[in-house]
Parts: sequence; C-alpha cells; structure tokens
Amino acid sequence: MARVYNFSAGPSCLPEEVLKECAAEMLDYNGTGQSVMEMSHRSKAYEPIIEDAEKMVRKLMNVPENYKVLFVQGGGSTQFAMVAQNLGIKNKKAAYIETGVWAKKAAAEAKKLGIAVDVIVSSKDKNYSYIPKVEKVTGDYDYVYICFNNTIMGTHYEYIPETGDIPLVADISSCVLSEPLDVSKFGLLFAGAQKNLAPAGVTLVIVREDLIPEPEACLPGTPTMLAYKTHADNGSMYNTPPCYTIYVLDKVLHWIEKNGGAEGMLKRNQEKAEYLYNYLDNNEGNFYHATTEKGSRSLMNVPFLTKYSTGATDEASVAKEKEINDKFVKEAAAAGLVNLKGHRLVGGMRASIYNAMTLDGVKALVEFMKKFAEANK
Ligand SMILES: *Cc1c(COP(=O)(O)O)cnc(C)c1O
Repeated sequence: MARVYNFSAGPSCLPEEVLKECAAEMLDYNGTGQSVMEMSHRSKAYEPIIEDAEKMVRKLMNVPENYKVLFVQGGGSTQFAMVAQNLGIKNKKAAYIETGVWAKKAAAEAKKLGIAVDVIVSSKDKNYSYIPKVEKVTGDYDYVYICFNNTIMGTHYEYIPETGDIPLVADISSCVLSEPLDVSKFGLLFAGAQKNLAPAGVTLVIVREDLIPEPEACLPGTPTMLAYKTHADNGSMYNTPPCYTIYVLDKVLHWIEKNGGAEGMLKRNQEKAEYLYNYLDNNEGNFYHATTEKGSRSLMNVPFLTKYSTGATDEASVAKEKEINDKFVKEAAAAGLVNLKGHRLVGGMRASIYNAMTLDGVKALVEFMKKFAEANK
C-alpha cells in the first residue's frame, strides 16, 4: 500500500527519509551485524548514538551550558509528577496556567503530591479556545507551570509569561523544535518524543542545573528513578534507556538540521498552518470553521468543526453532527488522509501537522475538504 498522509496527534508521522534509513540499518547497524535494538546500551557502537542525540538537542535548541539535557521514560505524563517532586520542594506551592486537559492533569498530579496549586488564570470560560494573557507572575511559588502547545485544544502561546526569579516550567511535548525557543527563559522544559521527535518511549527534559535537587531533597518518598539528579549524574544511562527510540530521535534531529533547524521548521510549519487556517477562515459557505481564536492558534494541531456542529443538543442535531463527522473521517481515510477524528472534548476533526507533515499533505487535505463540502452542503 502507498504511504498515507498521517494527521495523528501522536504517535505521529516521521520523516520518510528517516524511516528508510532505519529500515536500511535494521539488520546491520554500521557494520556491527546487529540491529540497534539488539545491542547493549553500554557498547562502543551505542554510546556515540546517545551522545550525538544530546549534542544535537543542544545545537538545534541552542541550550545554554548551565542546562542538563536528559532522556527519560514514562512519557510527558510522568513529568507532571517529576516536576512537582523535584521543583516543588521549598514552599510546596506552585502556580499553574490552565489551558486545557494537559495543564489540568499536571496540576492535579502536583496537588496529589501535596503541592498547594494556584490556578492563577484559566481559559475555561471559552472551552480553552484561547491562551489567556498573563502579566507578571509574582508570589512565593516554587515554579510556574504552562503547557506551551495544547495538543487537544489546538492553542499555542505567542508569548512567554514573565515570571522574574520564579522558574518557568513548560510542557512542549507537541511543539518541541517546531520553532525557535529561548531556552534561557525557562527553568525546565519537557517533551514526550512521540509528537515531533521520535517514536514513543523517550521524554526529553531540559533543566537548569541549579534547579536539580539532591535525590534526598525531593519530596519525601520520591523514587530514585523520579529524581532528575539520578539521570543527570549518569548521562541518562542510570538504567537501560529506550535505546532504539533515541537512535531514531538522533536521526530526526539530523533531518531537522538538514531542513534549516528550528528556523527552518518554523517556516515550513507556518506555511502549512497558514494554508489550512486560510481555508478554514475563508471557505465558501462557511462549511468548516476553526475552533481556536486568532492569536492563540497552534501551528501543530488544528481542530475544526463543520456547520453541522451548531451546539444544539437535541437528538436530531447531535445525530446529524455525528453522521457528518464520521463520514468525513471515513471518506478521508479512504482517500489516504488518516487519523483526522477530533478529540471528544472538542468534537469534529483535528489535523495534526507536525514537522514531518509536508505541505503536499496539507494541500491534499484541503482538496479533500473542498470536495467533501461540495457533496454535503
Ligand atoms: C501527548 C501529550 C502529553 C502526554 O504525553 P504521554 O507521553 O502520553 O504521557 C502531555 N502533554 C502534551 C502537551 C501532550 O501533547
């Protein structure tokens, strides 16, 4: 079967070139007669891979010297707890900006660990369809927490909140390396790899060294594996790292570099997102519309509804809406455009157009949308 255009929110499409390289090296990596997934993580063949991956993260994200780059496991969701256990140790108090599911889950996890959580601002009033403006955050907080790109709601910060001396923590799972980002403005950044960097299995953490406590200084009961120091002191090799995923990650980083680095990705992503939003904002008869407000729109995740999503809750309207959405997703898949079903909290459809998605893919989607609108108006 021909390759499809994959709009999945995660795990998501990877650059075809990278997949081909992995395939070519599957049975014999670099003359070792083994696959990378079979070799010891402490072998001569493997060590340069993880070292290069770290070097590439530093280079592409311009990571300052006084930050550690860690590869850990447990996904973005484990970071919700790790952040609280490692950073919430002084006043046991943190500020959270609530912009949707992922920010809420992070706050709930901190609360569970005994952190006094202040939700200082929320965009709940409009179903998280925008990023609230935060002036300067002050207070005796151990950290301020934001979700920089909201994968489900399709929103993204167009500014970095000013937090003075309070470390700013950001979940960048779904926008990592999609644009340049000034790492020095943050105390800690983390990203599950399966959206923009690699297959699932590794989480990138970038943390300012002075914020990493001794394991004993973490919240009481913090397991060894959940102390950043454990990983920082051992070059992310305290235990077996997700070796193969890191190998693919390294290849993706080289692909990003070849395509202009973070600036190149921004240009590529803006082009794709503008093409899609432009259609959503200007399509004939308003058959489709974007769910997010201008000024808060994600370049990565684009949720959209049809005119049949009226908000009416009577049985007939709900059934009609479901029928159209199901039909769209099914017919799109048959046309080679897959994983477009929206998240249940937003409804409709969602096109995730991460780094690896091509402009051709987005154009094919818009062509399909035009035909579908014509046939179902
Ligand atoms: C997907 C996602 C997560 C959860 O990641 P897991 O690796 O599945 O735990 C957290 N935050 C954001 C913004 C995400 O998109």
